[in-house]
Amino acid sequence: MGALSKNISAVEPSQTLAIDSTAKALRAEGKDVIGFGAGEPDFDTPENVKEAACRAIAQGYTRYTPPAGDIKLREAVAAKCLRDNGLSYSPEQIVISCGAKHALYNAVMVLCNPGDEVVIISPYWVTYPAQVIMAGATPVYVGTGPENGYRLDAARLRKAVTPRTKAIILNSPSNPTGWVASDAELTEIAEIVLERQLYVVADEIYEKIIYPPAAHRSIASLGEDIKERTVVINGVSKSHAMTGWRIGWLAAPPDVAKLSSRLQSHCTSNPTSIAQAAAIEALNGDQGFTAMMTGRFLDRRDYLLRRLNAMPGVSCYVPQGTFYAFPEIAGTGIGSDAFASELLEKALVAVVPGRAFGRDSAIRLSFATSMDNIRNGMDRIERFLKERA
Ligand code: PMP
Ligand code: GLU
Repeated sequence: MGALSKNISAVEPSQTLAIDSTAKALRAEGKDVIGFGAGEPDFDTPENVKEAACRAIAQGYTRYTPPAGDIKLREAVAAKCLRDNGLSYSPEQIVISCGAKHALYNAVMVLCNPGDEVVIISPYWVTYPAQVIMAGATPVYVGTGPENGYRLDAARLRKAVTPRTKAIILNSPSNPTGWVASDAELTEIAEIVLERQLYVVADEIYEKIIYPPAAHRSIASLGEDIKERTVVINGVSKSHAMTGWRIGWLAAPPDVAKLSSRLQSHCTSNPTSIAQAAAIEALNGDQGFTAMMTGRFLDRRDYLLRRLNAMPGVSCYVPQGTFYAFPEIAGTGIGSDAFASELLEKALVAVVPGRAFGRDSAIRLSFATSMDNIRNGMDRIERFLKERA
């Protein structure tokens, strides 16, 4: 009997999901926990989307679809890419998966061979290194920091690229920092990608959760040549408050899409037919919901940032997108793991330690929770810091 898979054994369980589960379990025990852990909108899925799913059930739309997803949904995604991003894809270039996380996994599996390297911009979403390792490849990090708004330094990126580099993962707007890549940064990344014939995996799941004057631009829209080296990842989880429905996708050059579909045909087959019907309505129906939700996130962001930046030992970059704040806590003298666990134990406030995202001097708070929770949570953190001082 041999050991279990080295690649899977090498990764930790998802910390973002683990902290959310802990907070929910404590709440079920009757503890008054305020959760800033969950990276999911606290809004309910819009009514028109729910109704589309009910109709799908009533009409017996309950069978297998093609493994890459219903052609109507792939057409709706193609129309969305054209409408929102100026990107022209045929439905064959689109693969619908069980959430953006699954689409990312397909992309990494299809792009990488064992021994390849994948460049990840740090701080990074916790799942990127895990997926790269599971594919038998090696993550290589390029650091960015709050001192200059997490700006990506092209020289550092260039230095991280070796003959073994296969791809760069770009997440803008970024979870956890809230950085939004400027056109200049996108152009610099594209230049390196084209020069070294790499791929860029562009995770654009927070595209719609963005605060003016910041604006989203897909790197694939810089030109036909970079589009041919880009795998765009997106989904309805964040934009339409549909995290539980599990619908995401990739839009990619034909060969990458074809292999993703092949991979998926052996792993999961299609994502749930009913959720696909709901996603068609999410993409083709009225888009007012997303703007309303983002407006509410902006109010919460502004309040949360004011409170955080007034706390001793804490300083926070103002996120330009997403619903995360990623304050530096080094001034408190506590590491991120200890900070998060003490805060949960003593103040009943759940946050994610920055270490999970490659930055131990920070913690991540999701402000996708009510203003009341944010107010109470900030009071508790303030009290916690005062008592500890
Ligand atoms: N990418 C990033 C950066 C995320 O934060 C998330 C949130 N879970 C995902 C991808 C995955 O989204 P989904 O729920 O659609 O799998
Ligand atoms: N993306 C969210 C987060 O970072 C949800 C949890 C997850 O999928 O990891 O918290």
